[in-house]
Amino acid sequence: MEKKVVIIGGGIIGLSCAYYLSQEGHQVTLIDRGKIDHGCSFGNAGMIVPSHVIPLAAPGMIAQGMRWMLNSKSPFYVKPRLNKELFSWGRNFYRSANAAHVSRSMPALLELSLLSKQLYRDLAEKSTEISYEEKGLLMLFQSDKVAKEETHAGEIAKSLGLEVDFLSKEDVQQLETGTTVNAIGGVHFKSDAHLYPHKLMFFLLDSCRKNGVEFKEETEVNSINIQNGKINSVSTLSGEISGDEFVIAGGSWSPELTKQLGIHLSLLAGKGYSFTLLKPSERPKIPSILCEGKVAVTPMGSDLRFGGTMEITHVRDTKINQKRLEGIVETANSFYPNMHVEFPKKEDQWYGFRPCSPDGLPYIGRSSKVSNAIIATGHAMMGLSLGPATGAIVSSIISDQKSPVSIDLFHPDRRF
Ligand SMILES: Cc1cc2nc3c(=O)[nH]c(=O)nc-3n(C[C@H](O)[C@H](O)[C@H](O)COP(=O)(O)OP(=O)(O)OC[C@H]3O[C@@H](n4cnc5c(N)ncnc54)[C@H](O)[C@@H]3O)c2cc1C
Repeated sequence: MEKKVVIIGGGIIGLSCAYYLSQEGHQVTLIDRGKIDHGCSFGNAGMIVPSHVIPLAAPGMIAQGMRWMLNSKSPFYVKPRLNKELFSWGRNFYRSANAAHVSRSMPALLELSLLSKQLYRDLAEKSTEISYEEKGLLMLFQSDKVAKEETHAGEIAKSLGLEVDFLSKEDVQQLETGTTVNAIGGVHFKSDAHLYPHKLMFFLLDSCRKNGVEFKEETEVNSINIQNGKINSVSTLSGEISGDEFVIAGGSWSPELTKQLGIHLSLLAGKGYSFTLLKPSERPKIPSILCEGKVAVTPMGSDLRFGGTMEITHVRDTKINQKRLEGIVETANSFYPNMHVEFPKKEDQWYGFRPCSPDGLPYIGRSSKVSNAIIATGHAMMGLSLGPATGAIVSSIISDQKSPVSIDLFHPDRRF
């Protein structure tokens, strides 16, 4: 049955939902408080990563995080605050960072990722514009300690059926012909892919418009109006918008929205930075993560993007920390000694907020508190990667169809 669906949030998650819902014949309105042309879903590293089967909340992460906190250029930081949300998120992270959680989560994450990759293949057939390529992901390292950790992660992925190559220093250079690499070795996850995020976003926008999706940009949802356990409408400055079903895809701002539904969503913003070199004369050809600095490097069309840093903070913290950006540039130059990457000018520096759940799993599903609210957020470092699968799942929920993959572990009401 055709339904009137209202989606709050025009990032990759909201747009993917709009894309699949409109294809199913639903009447979709998508609302965003800003213009849909920048935000977290545009400046990210563009990696599609079935390889990332280990959730962020894993054993060893707390100790590693503590060590990184002491270094102003490190890739990870928690902004200290006397705040209830931060305390409860930290407690939930601590409770989740154990081996049982990791082994439970891996198959579910992998299934979700592989579905998304298949859907990306379908999208790439419709548009070459999005620069989708399957070259895998190279995890590069410079120290024995990190080599051991990455090899272990590679072995786990291999045991789950992914194609993984373990490379010596020489193998790395043979594979990466774009520039000289200063690494002692690498792990090549051949399952991974990449694309140009803003081209993907514009392709989705355009396709949704053609499918009849109505966009309300620069329209903030100020309040959600509930009656008898159901949302009737949402209020914006330009009026009320009603619907049969409502999708909360507000990224890092989602808890402000779910609070109005009586749902406490444990979710914090993980601020990250990126900058893009336009048509550099020399550049790596294979998307890579420079492991010691956790810097992501992605060739996109003829450009090259560097991204990194995870600062657990709040959405009002919009400052770009120059020291951490320096850390990204230093890591890039250390791994690619011939590239001479320069510190980006102010206008070329980008930041975005990853919506981070404390157990490293997304929230996808119908809320048990408000019957016509579907929550789709919390994808943290994998929102681009998992966008299409999330959109397809949300569409199946609203269309009263069986979800294409199991979503039990992603329930928005789960306890930690
Ligand atoms: C440096 C960096 C690199 C990354 N690299 C990768 C990568 O390689 N691969 C990957 O998979 N992921 C990556 N990510 C993560 C990915 O970008 C995010 O997970 C994803 O963009 C989140 O999408 P979203 O749709 O949930 O949220 P967003 O893109 O933040 O969209 C949410 C939207 O909701 C709107 N909104 C919120 N509240 C309201 C309201 N009240 N009314 C109206 N509108 C509202 C906001 O304006 C916003 O546009 C990276 C992130 C960063 C920062």
